[in-house]
Amino acid sequence: MADIIDGRALAAEIRGEIREEAERFHEETGVRPGLATVLVGADPASDQYVRMKGKAADAASFHSRQITLPGDTPHEQLLGVVQGLNADPEIHGILVQLPLPEQIDEDAILEAVSPAKDVDGFHPVNVGRLAIGDDEVLAPCTPAGIVEMLVRSGHDPKGKHVVVVGRSNIVGKPLALLLLRKGRGGDATVTVAHSRTADLAAMTRDADIVVAAVGRPNTITREMVKEGVVVIDVGSNRIDDPSDERGYRWVGDVDYDGVSRVAAAITPVPGGVGPMTITMLLRNTLEAARRQVAGAGLAEGVVAS
Ligand code: NDP
Repeated sequence: MADIIDGRALAAEIRGEIREEAERFHEETGVRPGLATVLVGADPASDQYVRMKGKAADAASFHSRQITLPGDTPHEQLLGVVQGLNADPEIHGILVQLPLPEQIDEDAILEAVSPAKDVDGFHPVNVGRLAIGDDEVLAPCTPAGIVEMLVRSGHDPKGKHVVVVGRSNIVGKPLALLLLRKGRGGDATVTVAHSRTADLAAMTRDADIVVAAVGRPNTITREMVKEGVVVIDVGSNRIDDPSDERGYRWVGDVDYDGVSRVAAAITPVPGGVGPMTITMLLRNTLEAARRQVAGAGLAEGVVAS
């Protein structure tokens, strides 16, 4: 049976490190890393994500601010809120929870976030930096969490054939770019598959590492992987289950029971990739704070001299 890569345990370990670093940073500079989350409307799932992010930021000894706006907020008003946060020295990371209501131009809002405060890593400037292999970029959180999981669980992707199933801008594509970078967590040989891939099983059977980011249960089955493969299941699918007291449960994109019989290691759902995503948001916020404080110090030095 496969080893289970425990995302909750890894996330707790990294959050402990981040908290210590944030406290040291506060002692040295008097500044707490500041994360602002902006939620427009009352979607229950988005509301829950934003609360979890705020709680995680508080637990890491960050300064956190949650801004909730009504669902009919006009585009210009939201733009004004983002611009205010861009100029606010207490805030180093800005997260605008997606999806946004239809009266709002989502791309324009994401582009309005200062690239220095774009802790989600979705700004085109940061996407471009990722594509050219910039080590310093604020990388999207789910892909960054996957890479961190692989490295910390002893499954370094270096030199391995990784098949990423899914080509979204949030997971598949940025993950492929991270895995292709030179250095820690990178240096993999990457294949990206999607709904038009002719023979998915032929691709995944050749993989040392399979990452499934599709959004459809049982996309990856036991017959589709080779013995000893490492499997990262990003999928998060709610399925009906009358035997569960809630009437539903969460499953990934991988047939967990079948694949774990042949894999060397696998992530569970829930408790795999999910906890790592928020952890990487905290890491990006701390990193953004460090750079902004260092940048402000340099700017003051220039003015003073
Ligand atoms: P998208 O719907 O944006 O992308 C899904 C991708 O899967 C597309 O590229 C699509 O191909 C591809 N695909 C669909 N069907 C098949 C198929 N039969 N064979 C091969 N490829 C297929 O989803 P996301 O990337 O946003 O999310 C993927 C999953 O990960 C979802 O379940 C989501 O909930 C979960 N997720 C979990 C996170 C976490 O923190 N745990 C964070 C983000 C996402 P095409 O491009 O051709 O349409």
